[in-house]
Amino acid sequence: MNSRNYSKELEKKIEEFQRQAAHPKLLLHACCAPCSSYCLEYLREYFDITVFFYNPNITEESEYRKRVIEEKRLIEEYNRQVREKNFEGMNSDENARIIEIIEGEYKPSDFFDAARGYEDCKEGGERCRKCFELRLRKTAQVAEENGFDYFTTTLTISPLKNADVLNEVGEAASAEVKGTEFLPSDFKKKNGYKRSIELSHKFDLYRQDFCGCSFSKAQREREKDCH
Ligand code: SF4
Repeated sequence: MNSRNYSKELEKKIEEFQRQAAHPKLLLHACCAPCSSYCLEYLREYFDITVFFYNPNITEESEYRKRVIEEKRLIEEYNRQVREKNFEGMNSDENARIIEIIEGEYKPSDFFDAARGYEDCKEGGERCRKCFELRLRKTAQVAEENGFDYFTTTLTISPLKNADVLNEVGEAASAEVKGTEFLPSDFKKKNGYKRSIELSHKFDLYRQDFCGCSFSKAQREREKDCH
């Protein structure tokens, strides 16, 4: 059994940066605006963040567009708070920094290639590990190419996703590229998931009811039929 506490590990790293008065450059892979909401609120005081929206696993283009538009809208809301120094209703203060965004290539065939042979797996199984590997390897590459000190992902906020697997995949991706470090996380901890729901309501964010790929959508439809 894995006994690591990724949330505590992240807290310790942040304490270290604060002691050094450092604001490392972080490339934050983001899957959608609701999951980003808490992660950005939490991290934006400690890092210079660029969001990396790289999700070829969202196999329907219209769904992909909706999610990327919401991600950009959320970041604009947060940046407006920084410019206006108005953090009402937020757990942030004037140390919060402007957030940038990079949109990755949207090519669903890359996801289907990665998931080949695992199409019938249930959500949470081997197909998801392949999907995490695809997204986090690309994030690590972009982080290294652009001089980011760290990279991580908002995916650990989801109670449906295994934080051990995500952190393992992130650390393996970091070892492959060398010049950037994976930041451990388990954003659902410390009421992170609950806070993401509050923030989604506050900003009226679009909240999808399936993970992203056509297989997860079909699984959700079947589950609805059973109720
Ligand atoms: S269910 Fe989600 S994490 Fe799993 S393969 Fe599909 S999109 Fe990727």
